[in-house]
Amino acid sequence: MNDWHNMDCVDREELAELREQKLLNTVKWAYQNSPFYREKFQNNSVTPEEVKELKNITRLPFTTKSDLRESYPFKLAAVPMEQIVRIHASSGTTGKPIVAGYTKNDLVEWSRLVARTCALAGVTSRDTAQVSFGYGLFTGGFGLHYGLEYLEATVVPFSSGNTERQLSLMKDFQTTVLVSTPSFALYMAEAAREMGLDPKKDYSLRLGLFGGEPCSENMRREIENQWGITATVNYGLTEVVGPGVSGECTCQEGMHLHEDSFIEEIIDPATGESLPEGESGELVLTPIFKEGFPVIRYRTGDITRIIPGNCRCGHTTRRMDYITGRTDDMIIVKGVNLFPSQVEEVLSGFKEVSPHYRLVLHRSDKGFVKDVEVQVELTPEGFTDSFQELEKLEQNIKNRIRSTISLAPRVKLMEPKSLERTTGKSRRIVEGEDL
Ligand code: ADP
Ligand code: ZN
Repeated sequence: MNDWHNMDCVDREELAELREQKLLNTVKWAYQNSPFYREKFQNNSVTPEEVKELKNITRLPFTTKSDLRESYPFKLAAVPMEQIVRIHASSGTTGKPIVAGYTKNDLVEWSRLVARTCALAGVTSRDTAQVSFGYGLFTGGFGLHYGLEYLEATVVPFSSGNTERQLSLMKDFQTTVLVSTPSFALYMAEAAREMGLDPKKDYSLRLGLFGGEPCSENMRREIENQWGITATVNYGLTEVVGPGVSGECTCQEGMHLHEDSFIEEIIDPATGESLPEGESGELVLTPIFKEGFPVIRYRTGDITRIIPGNCRCGHTTRRMDYITGRTDDMIIVKGVNLFPSQVEEVLSGFKEVSPHYRLVLHRSDKGFVKDVEVQVELTPEGFTDSFQELEKLEQNIKNRIRSTISLAPRVKLMEPKSLERTTGKSRRIVEGEDL
């Protein structure tokens, strides 16, 4: 293993000391330099001196998405704006976007983190990697770009869109690594076949690095089968830096968290209480390296757990399980909690349907979800003219959903390739009235 793996193979006692020291420094830094955190700490009657060891982190208040919205655009800054050399922002589908500013040092740290994530997935300097994440305010494109360059891979900065051209260049450049959302990777395979190309034979791809949205096990296997590659999943979010928080090694058994740079907590989203190791809850992250826009105890809204024990690969860092949902993606239908990932899990058991699906919500006058329709595409093989067979399949899917989630949504089978494809993140939940 080369240097890229050193920080993910350190002795756990040394790591614990390093984390504690970096956390204490971060808390002081934020209090002394960020007007936002000084005020937040004061409002919660807490001072940095009360955080003497790592476990005292729970004395500090959480930071929420709405805190960050309210601090728009630059209230979080802990350095004069002249030291900020880059600004990113999350798409902010509701309300104002969330802004992240980076100092020169922050960018170096970020590149290192992404380089480590890529190295964990098996990327080396001999690879040519096409970045099909959007370049712009979104952290995905630039994050992967500089991380891969740091690793000295050859980067093709394609950005999103223009699928045919992406496919042509990927073939001509004999690109070995694809970086995109999982849904775009699937769409690309479909588009390649439509162009008369065989994704397995006509391309040199060997690895895929996928992130930015959930990727079920079924979807991963589908991508691997279609392209003939190893597909790894990685995780990150703008609020704490961007991509480079955690990523899978080739064992594909959870995402190694860069523990020297982030303190992780898993909490009960309803009470805010810490949950024991191994239990599933909301992930809270504190990056412990940032100068520009420090963030403390950020409630990510992402549901996961820390996988107990060590990975077979020999890296010593702990692993996060795949994200099973977002607290704000939770749909409550007639008192039952529902995540899109649960529906996806059920759908993956039916070979007649593809991983392309969406949930259409119908609301009552008061805004409550009264009814959900699961729209799922048939695979070309699953497609049939027999009305009876289709009806039977719909009923089977509905029954399976009812027995696992205690909810009986309507199920609508769609023709192959009829649901909207995306070059970025796919939208799994849509409001009925928007259609
Ligand atoms: P935007 O808010 O503009 O979409 P971000 O990149 O900041 O941009 O989005 C981060 C969010 O994307 C995470 O909080 C998480 O919900 C989701 N996400 C990122 N990576 C993954 C992943 N590997 N699995 C599931 N969800 C992911
Ligand atoms: Zn591993």
